[in-house]
Amino acid sequence: MPIAVVIPPDMRDPIPDAWWPKDVKQRFVNLTESWTVAASREAVPHHHLDPLANAVGGWEKALQRASESLRERIKEITDDVQALIKEGKEYEVQKAYTKLPAIENHVRNLLKADLIAILAKRGFLPRYAFPLDVVELVTKEDRYAESDVELSRDRGLAIAEYAPGAQVIARKTLYTSGGLAFTSRREIPAAECFWRCTTCQLIRTALNKTKLKESLGDSCPVCGARVLEAAFRRFIQPVAFRHDADAKISFGRNTPVRQRQGLTHFIDALEDVKFDELDGFRIALKKNGRLFRYNCGSGNKGFRLCRLCGRSEPIPLVQPRRRARQDQQPGVHRWLQYLPSFAGNAHCTASYHDYAVAYGHVFESFCLIVRPAFNSQSRESLGYALHRGLCHVLQIDLNEIGVSFRQAVGGGDEIIFYDRAPGGAGLVKEAHQRWREVVSETRRVVTDCDCERACYDCLKDFANQTHHRALNRHDVIAFFKGRPSVLL
Ligand SMILES: [Zn+2]
Ligand SMILES: [Zn+2]
Ligand SMILES: [Zn+2]
Repeated sequence: MPIAVVIPPDMRDPIPDAWWPKDVKQRFVNLTESWTVAASREAVPHHHLDPLANAVGGWEKALQRASESLRERIKEITDDVQALIKEGKEYEVQKAYTKLPAIENHVRNLLKADLIAILAKRGFLPRYAFPLDVVELVTKEDRYAESDVELSRDRGLAIAEYAPGAQVIARKTLYTSGGLAFTSRREIPAAECFWRCTTCQLIRTALNKTKLKESLGDSCPVCGARVLEAAFRRFIQPVAFRHDADAKISFGRNTPVRQRQGLTHFIDALEDVKFDELDGFRIALKKNGRLFRYNCGSGNKGFRLCRLCGRSEPIPLVQPRRRARQDQQPGVHRWLQYLPSFAGNAHCTASYHDYAVAYGHVFESFCLIVRPAFNSQSRESLGYALHRGLCHVLQIDLNEIGVSFRQAVGGGDEIIFYDRAPGGAGLVKEAHQRWREVVSETRRVVTDCDCERACYDCLKDFANQTHHRALNRHDVIAFFKGRPSVLL
C-alpha cells in the first residue's frame, strides 16, 4: 500500500496528477478512523495481554494511545507532503525552475513509498525487520527514496566505520557520513554519559550525569582517584548515520581513510560474583556482563552534533580562525536532513552545533573474568596468550572471542573474555569448565614458538594491532616460571 492513499482529499489538489502512483489519486483510506473503529469492535478479549495493557492504564487507554500515535505518524507524513509542495511553490515564485525536478522527485518517492515500511521505521509497527544493534549508513537522497546500496554494520563497528567524516566505498561510489539519520526528531537517541578514570582507566556509563555521579561517588571505586564531573562525557548510541551528498567526496584521494576500531571495555561491577581458584588464576563467569565501546574521534576531542538536523563532524584538533562571512561562521552549516522549518533554506536554523558527543555501543555478553594470582610483566601478552590457548582448546576462530583488560579493585590485573556472537553463545562457559586445558595450551603456545618477541603464530592477530608493540611471549613464559607450582 503506497503512502499516497492516506493523503487527505483536501490536500490532494496541489499535487499534479502525473506525480501520483497509478490508480491512487481517487483512493483515500482514512486509516486513523477505520483503525480506531475496527479496534473498538474487537470483541474477543486478549487476556494474556492484560498485563501489557494495564501497564499503560488499561485497554481503553492503550487503544487511545495507539490511535494518537498512528495519527501523529500519519500527520508527519502529510506535513512532509505539504512542506514539499510549499517549497515547490516558493521556487516557482522565485523562478528557480532548476530546483523543481528535485521537488517532484521527492514527492513522487514519498507518494509511492510503502506505508507499512514507513510506519515500521517510524516505530509505530514493531521493528522485527530492523535488529536493534544494526546501524545503517543511509545513502538515499531522501527518506522515501529506494536505494540500491544497503550499507549496514553491527553498531560496535559502525561507530568507527560510519562515524561522521568516515568514508565507505560501495558499488564504486564513495559515501561520506555526515551525521545521524532519523525520520523524525524524536528518533534522535538521547545522550548518555560515561566517565573514564585517567589513573586506572576504569570506565562507567549511566543514563545521565546525576546517575553517573551517584554510581561513582567522589572517588574511583578501583583506584581512589578523584571523580570530577567536568570529566564526564556524553555519548550517543546511534541507530543510523546518513551519507552527506554535499560532502567534498574526494579529498584528493580515492580510497577512504581506514577507521581505527576502538577497544572494548568491560564496565560491570563484580560485587556479587564468586571467583574460583584454579591453576594460579582466579576465574569467574558473568552471564550478562556489560561491555562498552566508544569512538571519541581523532585526538579524543569528540564530535560536534546538531540536534536539529543531525549533522555531526569530528571536532578539529586545532580550532579554525573565525571567518568574516556570516555563512562561514562556526556553527553555521548546511542541514543534513530536511525539516519543514528550514523552508527551503540551505542552512540549518539551529545554533547549537557545538554539542560534543562520542559515539558508543553498550552491549551485554557472556563473560569469563580472569585474575592472575600476580601481575605479569605485560598483561596484554598474558591476555592474548590465554586468548590463543582458549580458542585452540575450543577449536574456534580467534575472532569468536573478544578480549578486554582492566585493573581490578586492589590493583590486580583483570582479563575479560567474552562471546562476540550477539547475545553470547556460551563459548566462554566451556572455557571456564576446561580452564586447566586452556592454561596448559597457553604455555605450549608461548614456549613452542621460535619468534623473537611475538608473531602471528603466538600472540599477534589482526584485532590486537593496537598492542602489537607491547606483545612479548617471553613475558608470558616468565609469568608461568614465576609460579613455583608450574613447571615449564
Ligand atoms: Zn581509577
Ligand atoms: Zn543542523
Ligand atoms: Zn611467535
